[in-house]
Amino acid sequence: MTYDMFYRRSIDEPEAFWSEQAGLIDWHEAPPQILDNSHPPFTRWFAGGKTNLCHNAVDRHLADRADQPALIYVSTETGDERTYSFRELHGEVQRAAAALLALGVRKGDRVLIYMPMIAEAAFAMLACARIGAIHSVVFGGFASVSLASRIEDATPKVIVSADAGSRGGKVVAYKPLLDEGIRLSSHKPQAVLLVDRGLVPMERTAGRDHDWAALCAQHASAGVACEWLDATDISYTIYTSGTTGRPKGVQRDVGGYAVALAASMKHIFMGEPGGTFFSTSDIGWVVGHSYIVYGPLIAGMATIMYEGLPIRPDAGIWWSLVEKYKVTGMFSAPTAVRVLKKQDPAFLGKYDLSSLKALFLAGEPLDEPTARWISEGLGVPIIDNYWQTESGWPILTVANGVERKDSRFGSPGVPMYGFDVRLVHESTGEELTAPGQKGVVVIQGPTPPGFMQTVWGDDARYVRTYWETVPGKMVYSTFDWGIRDADGYYFILGRTDDVINVAGHRLGTREIEESISSHPSVAEVAVVGVADALKGQVAMAFVVPRDATAIADAAARLKLEGNIMKVVDGQLGAVARPARVHFVTLLPKTRSGKLLRRAIQAVAEGRDAGDLTTIEDPTALQQIRDQLGQG
Ligand code: AMP
Repeated sequence: MTYDMFYRRSIDEPEAFWSEQAGLIDWHEAPPQILDNSHPPFTRWFAGGKTNLCHNAVDRHLADRADQPALIYVSTETGDERTYSFRELHGEVQRAAAALLALGVRKGDRVLIYMPMIAEAAFAMLACARIGAIHSVVFGGFASVSLASRIEDATPKVIVSADAGSRGGKVVAYKPLLDEGIRLSSHKPQAVLLVDRGLVPMERTAGRDHDWAALCAQHASAGVACEWLDATDISYTIYTSGTTGRPKGVQRDVGGYAVALAASMKHIFMGEPGGTFFSTSDIGWVVGHSYIVYGPLIAGMATIMYEGLPIRPDAGIWWSLVEKYKVTGMFSAPTAVRVLKKQDPAFLGKYDLSSLKALFLAGEPLDEPTARWISEGLGVPIIDNYWQTESGWPILTVANGVERKDSRFGSPGVPMYGFDVRLVHESTGEELTAPGQKGVVVIQGPTPPGFMQTVWGDDARYVRTYWETVPGKMVYSTFDWGIRDADGYYFILGRTDDVINVAGHRLGTREIEESISSHPSVAEVAVVGVADALKGQVAMAFVVPRDATAIADAAARLKLEGNIMKVVDGQLGAVARPARVHFVTLLPKTRSGKLLRRAIQAVAEGRDAGDLTTIEDPTALQQIRDQLGQG
């Protein structure tokens, strides 16, 4: 079958199409209904069917591949390296599930997971899936204020965490950040379950804090059966940034997600049972959920969980893992490749990479020099794929598992089956059908399996945020600009909103502004994303200080800049720290007081500031130019 036929069928006959794909997973009770689109935009898949993500990721494989590697844990930070077979993983997950049950966790309860890249994080996620608890993994690089807002929103019964993570050989203590996050939140968890890696001493709160190893040991031979869940029950929430300071809990189901992942592993990632998948993401991001933990395991593959940098001990570390574990599919981000590109290219030739079939890259635009460099170095197809936390799996790419299609430099590819992707005019909402026209990338419902169900606890916000932004149409907005060529390949041109993408990490400029504003010397602040050769974008802040003497001389400016960065580090985490803080006496605004963020961004990138007819005081932009030495 050609991909075009495959795709058309998914859009024209979604029930028949997805009913077939549903056969890729195990059902305890087959779904009596495939698609329920009676309350758009809330699409329900496989309603009435019963299944379990953990069963499909682990238990299902015990019959045929119990002794095959399932989870390969490698830390170049601590030197730990351990392979868990499916049988061993089954044991670990049951112990973790028993520990959660002992702490009172039941179906539908939330468990917040704030952990470094250690095997226990995957055990905890799978244990939640097993008992029907809703996990909410918070990226370990986030700090106390980010954590507090997520605790507040998810209201977890239990939080699973660890003493510390490690980055580049430097220990990053988690427990003090967690304690502060809990202190700042009005919701308090009943219990905290802590993995003690022995990296840094932990203060424990009596009655609340429990030890992972001790509690699991109490349930050493526990048998915890999978809870058969409705396909439309909630599997997890994952927080993502938008244009407000308040993160959105992207909520996903059980059955649709399992089917979407199984299908994508086959059709997009060309995963075969017995192969090894190596995704270099983090469990705190959606890629980590879909393609470190659930996707590869559902496909019966071993998955590598890697804690460490791509260049430590040297830039050959990832390739040495490909050789050692015969990695068949690898998934990373353009930033990581750009980091490797700055190192000695000989590292690519040092290892036997013949097992590798393709390298998938996602999370940010893939520039042509980076794509060419890695493609020539590896000698395998480089497959860009475009998606979002909200979609759960790729929206645009090429499905080589269905039909081989060439990738095009600069384009992530064509719409994936199930995604009715369109381009619309930003202000009229009119559909743009001619090639080469720039518009907003939108998705026409029903959304496919695996797509978010709603914003956790806030259906109205889901509709308002995503489905009511295009005039005259109820379509899902990706908030990305795009262009389509004559052959249907899309090109993504950046966000239409105030979300920035730093090294593949999605950050809201408002969140960073709120954090900077909490510094007592700051009167006003604007944060914009500025193009960066390595990270894609970096955050840059323009601050109006309360008192001009705070920036009287270079030393004072440097000190305040450092202090502001420290505030962001402590509240949001180093990922959100602006690369530079510049000081000005006023910010460019419209006469009605609206911040001219786009003009600031343009100037910061050395571009033309665009239409300035509404600007209150043009000297504000001149100050920014002066600050950037463009005077
Ligand atoms: P996240 O939800 O963190 O995965 O971020 C999603 C956003 O990252 C998208 O809306 C895009 O702006 C950007 N993005 C993800 N993948 C790609 C890609 N392959 N090419 C260009 N931009 C991408």
